[in-house]
Amino acid sequence: MDSTAIRDQIDRILRSQSFASKGQLRRLLEILFRNIDSQTNLTPDLVIKELWPDQIRTKRSADVATEMNRLRHALESYYNGEGKADPITIVLPNRAAPALDGTPEKRWIAATARDGTGVETPSSHARRRRKLKRPALIGALAGVLSVTVYVSVRTLASPEQPKLGRLDGSALVILNGEGKEIWRKVFPDGIGPAWYYANGAASRLWFGDLDGKGHNSVLFSYLPADESKPHSSALICYSDRGREKWRWTPGRDLPELEGILSTFKTSAIRVLKAAERKPPRIVVVSNRDPSWGGPSQIALLDSSGKTLSEYWHAGGLRDMVVADLDGDGKEEIIAVGVAHGYDSQATMVVLDADRVFGASKEVMPEFQIHSNALAQERLRLLFPRSDLNRASFRSNHAIEPTFQDGNLKLKVLECLAPIGCPVDYEFNRNFQLVAVSPASDELRSAHDQFYKKGKDAHTLSAEEEAAFLKVRCLAGCKTEFVPVAQTYDPAASFEKGWTTQSNPNGVWSYGYSSGFMNAITLYDKTVRNGINGPNAKYWVFSSVNVGTSPAAEHNDGPAYNDANIDFLANEFLLVAGVGGQYSDLIFTAPVDGEYSVAGSFRGAQYGVGTVVGIVANGKVVFSSSVTSMGQLAPFRITLSMQAGSTVLFSVGPGPGAQNTALSVTITRPCGLTDRPALTPTGETTCSSSAALQIGKNAHALAQKASRRS
Ligand SMILES: [Zn+2]
Repeated sequence: MDSTAIRDQIDRILRSQSFASKGQLRRLLEILFRNIDSQTNLTPDLVIKELWPDQIRTKRSADVATEMNRLRHALESYYNGEGKADPITIVLPNRAAPALDGTPEKRWIAATARDGTGVETPSSHARRRRKLKRPALIGALAGVLSVTVYVSVRTLASPEQPKLGRLDGSALVILNGEGKEIWRKVFPDGIGPAWYYANGAASRLWFGDLDGKGHNSVLFSYLPADESKPHSSALICYSDRGREKWRWTPGRDLPELEGILSTFKTSAIRVLKAAERKPPRIVVVSNRDPSWGGPSQIALLDSSGKTLSEYWHAGGLRDMVVADLDGDGKEEIIAVGVAHGYDSQATMVVLDADRVFGASKEVMPEFQIHSNALAQERLRLLFPRSDLNRASFRSNHAIEPTFQDGNLKLKVLECLAPIGCPVDYEFNRNFQLVAVSPASDELRSAHDQFYKKGKDAHTLSAEEEAAFLKVRCLAGCKTEFVPVAQTYDPAASFEKGWTTQSNPNGVWSYGYSSGFMNAITLYDKTVRNGINGPNAKYWVFSSVNVGTSPAAEHNDGPAYNDANIDFLANEFLLVAGVGGQYSDLIFTAPVDGEYSVAGSFRGAQYGVGTVVGIVANGKVVFSSSVTSMGQLAPFRITLSMQAGSTVLFSVGPGPGAQNTALSVTITRPCGLTDRPALTPTGETTCSSSAALQIGKNAHALAQKASRRS
């Protein structure tokens, strides 16, 4: 987890509906986050100075404690609702209690990866970087001792419920939510080896209510320390009081492995939430020794440790998440790793929880696992290998699947020794590829260094970059490769047009009108005058502008709240005119195609009262009103559009204040004749010719608009 991921999480909370009406708590969260790297020096006085700058004399540390408590509760309820699927948990440690290591807790705020890979402290950024260099692939770290793993889970409030775990020598130590030890299990054969728990270890430990009776069970994948002979791991389930309820052993004797000593190690444990009268089910991913190379088993267990069903995969699946990818209310299982056969490519498998059976179909007969059923993967993907990877390693590897903002993300490692050169992939809820980016310039520099000299000398080319878009689909797609889609986001595009004073700005234009269906006049002037914060940037029309209304507006900085406006970080706003004007955002389709339009309007001002609407192909396709601060008016529309036709997003005057935020993503799957490419920041585009058309059409629209006015 890096600071960007934590920043993203803070933004997600600040933008959430739960926090929409909590200006003070949002400010406090921002203050804490701003100080996250120096928080041990943070004092109540400093917080008072920032939180109540004009009440420094009257506010006391007790007031800070009260606010901290309110924020703690607000975060809890956020994570129990809206934030359920967030990848990172933000917690406020109890500063009255000692920290896990016994010293007084000094942290005000901590971030924990949702899969529990560790409590983040300021120094963890460095740790994270080291972690990347250390694969959990082989027992290279066997000599590392005293592994410490913390896992935190939000569940029950009872102080004696197990919530955290720590490995201490040969003991598994279980702690309550305050970090106090409630019981421990000592393993005479030791716990380890270190590599097994060192990396992503938290996915080998899970806490939660398995029986629906309000008690936390503990799931722990145990592996003895002794590496002199191979051991299978064992999944152990403990009651909240530490009573061993059951043990489960991964894998089984496959006829394909005849003559080979088969031990299996579990690499990931997740629990599917209870749904449709189905109790929670445990998902366990395990691999055959000696490495993570496979075959691997995904087993579905009930809460008493009975195997309900199992899926076998010839390759090595290691990381896993469960998430409701398609929004149908049921969680899918997403496992990633490396394929066997198929050119040893990084792979991702998505399974419906109700279809965990059969064996993956393999091209090479020696890898085929025989089962009485063929698997029915929802999706099975193979990720392209770079020339660098082919020249230096036997395979590339997919790791760290996460589910964020409705999109599925994962990394593919092109370098395996040392581990690195990650390429980030992002898919939307329709399993279209929407972004591919080398997470840093690491791949590029490793590649260019490797091919510096000799007859193959070259630098990473645009064609090579475009080749990363060729994600092969073995199951679940209509085409051989995963469809690529181009996305358009007015908040992300605003800055560029504002700076260059371009309206139209690519596919976007900003203007005003006298109604949803009426002619639009494009704004002609950019303003930045401190209204709605120092980072608020406006488009207005000179001759009708009254107090920067009507306007299109973007917050280029952190969230801003001045008790009048509530402006989230990187938010786009439409401000209806005090003179009765509607403020409009116009999207002009660059090419013919199917466009999906999804997002929401949001009340962004105290006492807001506006009408909101969307007009496409000459019809009002959505209309609603926004009458309270933080209220969302969500929409999801699919439109068949011709090049040059428009979608209009409009905010008109209503019974209250004018500032209404608009968050929207427009997506177009690339067509057969398109040539998908990547922008420098990693967004996918369908073709370069589309860009030319955007300019042309937008220009035509501007002319039309100015004729109308
Ligand atoms: Zn190359």
